[in-house]
Amino acid sequence: EPEVVKVSILNEESIILGFHLTKFMLRDILSNIPSSTYVVITDKNIAPIYLSKIITDFEKVASKLNLINTTKLRLITYIISPGEQSKSRDTKAEIEDFLLGKACGRDTCILAMGGGVIGDLAGFVAATFMRGVPFVQIPTTLLAMVDSSIGGKTAVDTPHGKNLIGSFWQPKRIYIDLMFLETLPEREFNNGMAEVIKTAAISSELDFINLENGVSSIREAVFSSPKRNVQYQGAILATRTPSQSLLLSVIMTSAKFKADVVTHDERESGLRGLLNFGHTIGHAIEAILSPELLHGECVSIGMIKEAEIARHLGHLNQVSVSRLYKVLQDYDLPVSLDEKKVKDLVGKKFCAVDKLMEIMKVDKKNQGDQKKIVILSSLGSTYEKKATIVSDSVIRKILSP
Ligand code: ADP
Ligand code: ZN
Repeated sequence: EPEVVKVSILNEESIILGFHLTKFMLRDILSNIPSSTYVVITDKNIAPIYLSKIITDFEKVASKLNLINTTKLRLITYIISPGEQSKSRDTKAEIEDFLLGKACGRDTCILAMGGGVIGDLAGFVAATFMRGVPFVQIPTTLLAMVDSSIGGKTAVDTPHGKNLIGSFWQPKRIYIDLMFLETLPEREFNNGMAEVIKTAAISSELDFINLENGVSSIREAVFSSPKRNVQYQGAILATRTPSQSLLLSVIMTSAKFKADVVTHDERESGLRGLLNFGHTIGHAIEAILSPELLHGECVSIGMIKEAEIARHLGHLNQVSVSRLYKVLQDYDLPVSLDEKKVKDLVGKKFCAVDKLMEIMKVDKKNQGDQKKIVILSSLGSTYEKKATIVSDSVIRKILSP
């Protein structure tokens, strides 16, 4: 039995964290979400690394549980192209046609194994297939582990914008298996760290200090794992190293804060808006600089700008802004649109202040005409228990060069 940590959300202990959880997960799913068809939806990058293990473990676990001959049990898989373009109505329809072609009925359970794209898309398929079938989140990116897999938001993009068509549909389980991080590209890991830093900044000074002090240990836990070496033997470490324990606790803390917020505010009326720290400006930057910059990278720059707004309004001191700046840099995240790394990535694109203001005007989270920003009062706490209305002139002033 692997050692696991459980976190509750919406009054159920449905978030499970640990290392190498595949068999444990399949035992739990086969026993507690009984279905005749299990469908793994994943992408072309993840499938060659992880799918065969899921398939062989599924056979083993099913036979141990004596499910092989007694039921018409099956595991089928659907693999999509990686990337945000796949989070579309077209891909949703393709998956649905595939399921219908395989005669999947209401006793189907969907396993979304991937990053945010897979989770949002497969979750939305689950939400509407046969008026809703159970699904399980198996996040494989850090961003999905601490953010998108938790909270039940599912959606696809349209040419008019991201996540415009979707629904709230809670997964039955969220399996956060840190094994997946062994193959995650470094830039994708840093991308997820932006949300981890965000959560600490709005919720806990102690967690923030742990991130400041843990830079080398956390990076070692991910980037010196055996799978990153050529001679990987598939060996499972019997005991966790101290750095792996730290990594697990950092991810668990972040996931738990999101789970608690969702438990108190499932449909985003106020409290859940706190999770948008860095996102009002970050999303506007992302609207211009995506796909060259990743979500977390835009949020990183957005957090600095929004912290500067808090400082400008007299709610946050300069030392706190500097510490935020430093910790983001330590995790290799961009802190300004003007830095070379950003310029090299985005080429000729740039973010004019007018354009950013224009984009922020149509934010779903605005109150009428007024823009809302999460204002920090210190590292670990916010000025209000929700986002604060900030005038256009203040935002414009901070964004201006
Ligand atoms: P997110 O929205 O969570 O940042 P995406 O779904 O866009 O993530 O995935 C980011 C990229 O990382 C995709 O190209 C995906 O195929 C790849 N990827 C996801 N998880 C892993 C993993 N564990 N190992 C290697 N590549 C991965
Ligand atoms: Zn985010």
